[in-house]
Amino acid sequence: IIRIDNLHKTFGQLEVIKGVSFDVMPSEVVVLIGPSGTGKSTLLNCINLLIKPSKGSIWLDKKEITAPGTDQDKVRQRIGMVFQEFNLFNHLNALENVSIGMCRVLGMAKQDARQKAMRELLRVGMAEHADKYPSQLSGGQKQRVGIARALGMDPHVILFDEPTSALDPELTGEVLSVMKKVAADGMTMVVVSHEMGFAKEVADRIIFMEGGHIVEQAPPGDFFAKPQTDRARQFLSMLN
Ligand code: ATP
Ligand code: MG
Repeated sequence: IIRIDNLHKTFGQLEVIKGVSFDVMPSEVVVLIGPSGTGKSTLLNCINLLIKPSKGSIWLDKKEITAPGTDQDKVRQRIGMVFQEFNLFNHLNALENVSIGMCRVLGMAKQDARQKAMRELLRVGMAEHADKYPSQLSGGQKQRVGIARALGMDPHVILFDEPTSALDPELTGEVLSVMKKVAADGMTMVVVSHEMGFAKEVADRIIFMEGGHIVEQAPPGDFFAKPQTDRARQFLSMLN
């Protein structure tokens, strides 16, 4: 569903992504890990077309989305994004935060959008908080609204950039369990996360990046039990 081919990204003098290639299959959950400053967020933002690659191409549903003349808004509609910061509208309640994109971007009628938004809130266990404003919600609840908002756009893939790293440990679990459910429903997901428990349990594949390269990729069972490179071994030993 996604193909990344020889992607490079340079900021000024600094080359942050140095030739990264991989595919993501339909319904696959890829967890991207690696040290800070390795280019993980930059990579997600290239897929989302928030950052323009310096070189290489990205394909979504067999179409090159980095090609000139691509309808970027249409591409972004098909790619859901969940960030570390929740990016909710503070003046809108949970239901409105989920429905607004459906109205504005997908052109749904208000009543239909509200109904669908309610279903998405139900999916993430937030239906009873539909009329609350972000200031009345915990971090974990806000992030679940953020996931409902992404789901509401019926994306072909959702990118998560450290969705739980701003949360207290006791709130992290509720967000991870929602993500696990979304994965089980067949959503294609690319997740940057330091939550190795989640990675072990939910990922189909781990991609370990360092210094702008993919150093190693493997199913989680193999990656965690017997990493093939010293870099990966070192990274894993630092987590424990
Ligand atoms: P972390 O785990 O800390 O989130 P990361 O792997 O997501 O790290 P990136 O945020 O992709 O890393 O950043 C990679 C490098 O690119 C860093 O050295 C960062 O300073 C640099 N960088 C990122 N965005 C920009 C930008 N807009 N302009 C210049 N440099 C940038
Ligand atoms: Mg990052």
